Amino acid sequence: MTVRDPHFYDRRGDVHDFALQDRQVLRELASWMADRRETPIPPRPDRAPDLPGVTRAGIGIQATWALLRDVLLPSSFPTDHPRYLAFVGGSPTPAAVIADAALSAAAVYGGSELEAGDVVAAERMAIRWLCDVVGYPEKAHGVFVSGGSLANLSALVSARHERVVTHGGMPTVVVASASAHSSIRAATSIMGCRVISVGTPDRPLRGDELTAALDSLDPSEVVAVVANAGATNTGAIDALQEIAEICEVRGIWMHVDAAYGGAALLVPGKRDEFAGIEHADSVTIDPHKWLFTPFDCAAVLYLDPTIARAAHQQRAVYLEAVEDDGADNPADYAAHLTRRARGVPVWASLVANGTDAYVDAVETCLAVADYAAKQIEAIAHLEIVTEPHLSVVLFRRHGWTADDNALWSARLQASGTALVTPTTFEGESVLRLCFVNPLTTTDDVDLVLKTLECDAPTG
Ligand SMILES: *Cc1c(COP(=O)(O)O)cnc(C)c1O
Repeated sequence: MTVRDPHFYDRRGDVHDFALQDRQVLRELASWMADRRETPIPPRPDRAPDLPGVTRAGIGIQATWALLRDVLLPSSFPTDHPRYLAFVGGSPTPAAVIADAALSAAAVYGGSELEAGDVVAAERMAIRWLCDVVGYPEKAHGVFVSGGSLANLSALVSARHERVVTHGGMPTVVVASASAHSSIRAATSIMGCRVISVGTPDRPLRGDELTAALDSLDPSEVVAVVANAGATNTGAIDALQEIAEICEVRGIWMHVDAAYGGAALLVPGKRDEFAGIEHADSVTIDPHKWLFTPFDCAAVLYLDPTIARAAHQQRAVYLEAVEDDGADNPADYAAHLTRRARGVPVWASLVANGTDAYVDAVETCLAVADYAAKQIEAIAHLEIVTEPHLSVVLFRRHGWTADDNALWSARLQASGTALVTPTTFEGESVLRLCFVNPLTTTDDVDLVLKTLECDAPTG
């Protein structure tokens, strides 16, 4: 490189050192983080975003921070808003947010023990806690990845590796519950495999349905069976114990996708519904959904982590320094190498708040979902469409079409009132509430339900 500017070496610190203005912004950022929940959501602007472009000179940190604070970030509907009841939200604890911010600032490479030191130990504790929650034995292990999608892909790649190593051949079929998340199909397609869907969409998968499907397949063709523990659309949990027994007898890898639902394992009264999950060869749980961690953070857990390591570990001359067989390198257990040490916010929040607070928080969400279902039952123009599972409530507004549902949802969002999106249940457009934020109150539920009183959607 030719350095044309003679002052280049004098100036190079400018953008990397914290100058006075950067420190001012940092202080403001801290207050903003602490206070942002008090700020109501502004109505959605009815125009294209007005963001400055990238220029040679740049506009400086203060102007950029002002843009972030006043223009860019307020345009989003935050997932931790108490009336974000669409999809599956997420509401991180302050401890997790602080740890997440510190993690970015500390520039930690979370791929291997060599660099990350005790950070890997902290992540391991968080993984161990999740393994305990699932009911996994001591030898189980896993890693935090970007999301349930990558967790599912990594688990299925491990499953295929196991099948190839032990039986030879190349299996190409993933047998998945009919309500499996879209990421299963995506993972399967990346792997060059195909999905055979079993059971009835929006209903929990039963053992006899799985048996019928597997009877027509040679086990050597099958990568894995994928069961749901908390289907995204309905919250339904498949018959995990039956599925585990069937997979055991046939020697097929069982993967349980508990990305959303896994958090409910914390609640003693719900545990029975998950019986059998502890026999799964791999489990996905997303702390960024219902375990109060900032995006992005999902865990893939393995009953036998040596298989996952054999499937995923990358080897190269420039990696020899970290390829110590005794090392616990998070890079080795999923389809990634460089990674954010995403388990640190999970660990920090668990250490700070204690697990009782987690149980309380999940129970609160379940109780508010229960309240919503009861209110809906009691209101003449509303009707529950299927018995609620976990914290998902599906219901219909009598007299409303799919277009009405969509218009109601759009208006609620545009006014900054709530984010509630319709979905489809057994072919019908219905309304769906999903509760994963313990700050959502029964008043929030009443407020949303009240907007359904008019004969046609308003805002
Ligand atoms: C959300 C979800 C996923 C995908 O997780 P991402 O973190 O969005 O990648 C997978 N499975 C289930 C059951 C989910 O609810």
